[in-house]
Amino acid sequence: MARYTGPVCRLCRREGVKLFLKGERCYSDKCAIEKRNYAPGQHGQRRSKQSEYGLQLREKQKARRIYGVLEGQFETYFDKAERKKGVTGENLLVLLESRFDNIVYRAGFADSRNQARQFVRHNHFTVNGKKANIPSMELKVGDVIQLKEKSKDSALIKAIVDNMGSKTAPAWLTVDTDNLTATVDRLPSKEDIDIPVEEQMIVELYSK
Ligand code: SF4
Repeated sequence: MARYTGPVCRLCRREGVKLFLKGERCYSDKCAIEKRNYAPGQHGQRRSKQSEYGLQLREKQKARRIYGVLEGQFETYFDKAERKKGVTGENLLVLLESRFDNIVYRAGFADSRNQARQFVRHNHFTVNGKKANIPSMELKVGDVIQLKEKSKDSALIKAIVDNMGSKTAPAWLTVDTDNLTATVDRLPSKEDIDIPVEEQMIVELYSK
C-alpha cells in the first residue's frame, strides 16, 4: 500500500508536536521540533486562529501520521470503531494500537513505527509461529509475535535487540527478551495510550 515517503520531521512541525517518527533522533537535540517549532513553509511562522473544524482536522492528521495510516484506511478504522460497542474515540485508538507494526514498535523491536513496518514487511517476525508480513494486521489478546532466529544476524536488528532491556514495554504486553517474543496480554485502555491526540475531536470531525 502507498504511504507518505516525504520528510517526516515536517509532519511534526506541521502539527506543532513531537510525533516520534524517527526513533532515537526524536529524543536528541537534533529533533527539528526542538530547533524550529513552527510550521514548515513560507508562512509557517504566521500565527492564525484555527476554526473548530481546523482543530478537529489537525487531531485526525496527528493520529494518521503517528500510526502511518493513509486517509482511506483511517476512515475504515473509524467505521469499524463506530460499529464496536463502547466509546468510538477510544475504540479507534485501540484499533490503531492493535496493528502488528505498532505492537512490534511498542514491544521495543524497532525504534519507530516506520522501522517496525519495514521489519514486518521484510518477514522478520512470526505471529503465533506462522509467517506474517502485513503491518496493518490486527492482533488479538493472546497473540504472540516472535523475531525470527535468522533475523538476529542483521546488525541493525541485533543492535536494537541488545538495547531492548533499557526500554519499558507497555503494561498490556509481555516482552520476553530471551526468546524475543511479545505477547498481547490484553487490549490497551485509553490510559495506556500515550499519544498527543484528542480522539473525541476526531469523532466530532467525522460526525459532521
Ligand atoms: Fe518529529 Fe522525531 Fe523529527 Fe523530532 S526528530 S521532528 S519528534 S520525527
